[in-house]
Amino acid sequence: MKKKIKLLIAAAIFGLIALSIIQGYLINNTYKLKKDAFINEMRRSVSQIDDFSPVLDSLSDIWQDHFLNKIADYKVQQATKADILKGLQFVIDSINGPYKAEYQNELKKLNIPYEIKFQKKVLAIVLEDSTQSDTIFDFYKTPKNIILGNAIDNDKAIGLSTTLWQTDHTSSRTINGEQKDIEFYLAFKTRDIMDLQGWRSVVIKEMMGLLLLSLIIFSVVIGLLYFSIKSLVLQKKIADIKTDFVNNITHELKTPLATLTLATKMLKTKDVLAKPEMINNTIGTIERQNTRLQNLIDQVLSNSVGYQDINLNKESVNPRVYFDTVFDDFLLSVKSKSVQLNRAYEGDQKHIELDRFYMTTALLNILDNAVKYSGEDLHINCKIQFEEQLRITISDNGIGISQKDKKQIFEKFYRAGHKEIHDVKGLGLGLYYTTEIVKAHLGTIEVKSLPSEGTTFILKLPLN
Ligand code: ADP
Repeated sequence: MKKKIKLLIAAAIFGLIALSIIQGYLINNTYKLKKDAFINEMRRSVSQIDDFSPVLDSLSDIWQDHFLNKIADYKVQQATKADILKGLQFVIDSINGPYKAEYQNELKKLNIPYEIKFQKKVLAIVLEDSTQSDTIFDFYKTPKNIILGNAIDNDKAIGLSTTLWQTDHTSSRTINGEQKDIEFYLAFKTRDIMDLQGWRSVVIKEMMGLLLLSLIIFSVVIGLLYFSIKSLVLQKKIADIKTDFVNNITHELKTPLATLTLATKMLKTKDVLAKPEMINNTIGTIERQNTRLQNLIDQVLSNSVGYQDINLNKESVNPRVYFDTVFDDFLLSVKSKSVQLNRAYEGDQKHIELDRFYMTTALLNILDNAVKYSGEDLHINCKIQFEEQLRITISDNGIGISQKDKKQIFEKFYRAGHKEIHDVKGLGLGLYYTTEIVKAHLGTIEVKSLPSEGTTFILKLPLN
């Protein structure tokens, strides 16, 4: 059964891990899809700005005109390649302020609530005529940044498009006093990128519902699993306890029943019937066994009640007189071994309120256990202290209780698992009942114990 539960727990954990992986995979996929959809939508909007804004168009015209003029100068050797790039950079820098402002204006018009940075970066400038091509600039060979728009970190850049501006251009230049048409074909390649500030939080916000739902479902599944396993373990524990209890009570019932059977058989024999004193003896045995059976049943019935069912009938008692009586009666009742019981009273022993009957049962349960779970040389120390509350300490030098058992001995039907105890009679109800009595008196009970060294029970009861 234990193996089965372990297997079940392992399978459940495995299932949960598999479920988490699938869930993680699905969420990640949704995130990617949402991200792509969002970025594509932004791409479309930003492309619209570039294509349809008249102000941006006229700003582009300014730098393009200036640039084409510089190329014409280059064609007639009135400028170098470096001059072209320098001029381009200069004109771009001078229009960049208004360019960026206009861009943000257009974004506002499109009702895009996110901050978007835009950048156009020159990748290549190539001149071609019928015979040859002349590279004025190649970013991959000489990585120089010629940029229109905002500065954007590489790791934040989202690619928009690569644009190729191709134009056939004719300009007139005066060479050696003669007016000449300069013709050239230009290929101007740029890469447009944007930086969508905070796009991650936008996408995550869109996924919030899904994430929350997954989290709730996941928590519910984990919760259900936890409670199922917990109740399974509890059921198993209860089943074990019941089996132990049935075994114990059967064991307890067997002896008196066997004696009763024997006694009734004896009463039928002629020998016994002929001797009245033997009849009396046998009837005495029957009575004793009957009482024993009655006590056993009473113990099960009364010791099973909870503290809510205990109706206390409190009376004021003199502690020293009360505890002395309990200890003396206890010593008189122990017949199996000799017990040395030390008692100490500390503090101002003022009168206390308690239910004499119940409290005596509780104390006797602890004292009887000291006898049951100890060797031949038994020493019991009882200390009654008056502090802020009444503190009753009962220590023995018996077999002690293991750390694991200590947590459970106050539970109904629980009996510790050590070997020695199998020879000791008991139903596992004594300490449970003691706890309930102490609780009914609004007190607490705790145990301190080390295996083979002994056990100490401490009862604390409020004084008023
Ligand atoms: P039981 O009928 O088994 O004595 P109790 O409820 O009185 O039932 O005690 C529960 C268990 O606690 C016992 O079975 C025993 O293992 C352990 N126990 C109680 N008192 C002592 C003690 N003084 N020394 C060692 N073990 C003890």
